[in-house]
Amino acid sequence: VVGGGPAGLSAAMVAAKRPGTRVLVFEREEAAGGIPRHCDHTGWGLRDLRWSYSGPSYARRLTKLAVDAGVHILTDTTVRKVESSGEDRIVHTVSPRGIQSYTASAVILATGCRESTRHSLLLPGKRPLGVFNTGTLQQFVHLKRIVPGTVAVVFGSEHVAFSAVMTLNKAGMKIAAMVEPDGYPHSFLPVSWSFERWYGFRLLLNCRIVNIHGNHRLTGITVEDTTTNRRTDLACDTLIVSGAFKPEITLAVESNLPIDPAAESVLADSFLHTERKGIFACGNVLHGAETGDIAALEGRWAGVQAGRYLDNRLSEPRRVRIECAAPIAWISPGNVIAPILDIPSFLYTMRVTRRIRNATVVARFGGETVWKKRYGTLTPHRRIAVPVHTWTLGADPGRNDVIRLSIEEAA
Ligand SMILES: Cc1cc2nc3c(=O)[nH]c(=O)nc-3n(C[C@H](O)[C@H](O)[C@H](O)COP(=O)(O)OP(=O)(O)OC[C@H]3O[C@@H](n4cnc5c(N)ncnc54)[C@H](O)[C@@H]3O)c2cc1C
Repeated sequence: VVGGGPAGLSAAMVAAKRPGTRVLVFEREEAAGGIPRHCDHTGWGLRDLRWSYSGPSYARRLTKLAVDAGVHILTDTTVRKVESSGEDRIVHTVSPRGIQSYTASAVILATGCRESTRHSLLLPGKRPLGVFNTGTLQQFVHLKRIVPGTVAVVFGSEHVAFSAVMTLNKAGMKIAAMVEPDGYPHSFLPVSWSFERWYGFRLLLNCRIVNIHGNHRLTGITVEDTTTNRRTDLACDTLIVSGAFKPEITLAVESNLPIDPAAESVLADSFLHTERKGIFACGNVLHGAETGDIAALEGRWAGVQAGRYLDNRLSEPRRVRIECAAPIAWISPGNVIAPILDIPSFLYTMRVTRRIRNATVVARFGGETVWKKRYGTLTPHRRIAVPVHTWTLGADPGRNDVIRLSIEEAA
């Protein structure tokens, strides 16, 4: 298993329960646990462990469950490439022990996701110290006990941006503003409303960053309201660039795994089997940031399927592609095994490119409408779970090997 976050640890724990299976987790950090290690607030583990843990205690709990199941965890070990040779998978690693290779019958990729940097978001201006992501902020504050500044601006307004606000507050820093280019917060309205009041900052909607100031250390930013073109200077010594998550697919690309270009994620099917025999994927490497418990449930599913693969019981009667029409951005996993009888309902997640009100999402397969559902509002960056497992059951697929997913918007 590559990656010791919630997905990888859960996959390893389940796979290790198969008699005779030896499971090794490779984790590049000094400890297993993944993102929750440095996300010190509660609410982790609700759907998988049915308890509300703090991030660090959730990470410790999952690590213990895996170790108790017989999993061996190698920390400080980065996997650089996975190759296939006949029935074997060769895992190439680098660690303080040097460059090493391991042979496995099956590999599960659980490398998580990462936030976009200011450069990939094309934020202009100087390059002073003090501009970093939420993950770095949380590592400073919760793992290294470093207070990285005094006054911060948060760029982005999805769930993790509010997690950054809590971390800044815990570090004793002031939050000057949250800046969001869209005209609405990407997290839930009650969350943004209550956070603004509780933590005393302004959420600046329809605003983009047009300059970053400071020669050595950040001294401030300039934001522009895109509806009025009015510019405002905000003094701050810390800018947290949050969200715009991307699946961490560097290893998958190095290993020549087929990538879903729309989701920029590893292409997998209902069994979380990638297009390479014996290589599975689970967690946020499939779709960018989902909550830890969803990643863990996917991990368990991948662990079960890897076990079935080792038993030669992973039948694939038929592989069907899902084609998304705009404004649907992507669906993940991108393939379906049909007919699907027992896949879990949480597995497939869809995203849209823009906010849509009164939308009906429609799935067509074999010339028939196999599913439709009306939504009040669909928001980008938010999970839309779709019950793909019901779609191919009643329909006669004929020679059709594509499910078409589209949105009908109310006039
Ligand atoms: C900054 C941030 C804050 C978040 N806050 C929350 C939150 O508050 N609540 C919530 O539910 N979700 C949050 N998330 C989403 C979070 O990603 C998931 O909750 C969960 O951690 C996903 O689990 P995972 O196992 O897929 O990935 P991760 O937890 O990211 O674990 C992936 C692991 O793989 C390791 N790895 C990657 N590549 C390699 C390699 N080549 N070799 C070896 N090891 C490798 C990484 O070091 C990491 O430990 C946050 C995400 C981010 C980025």
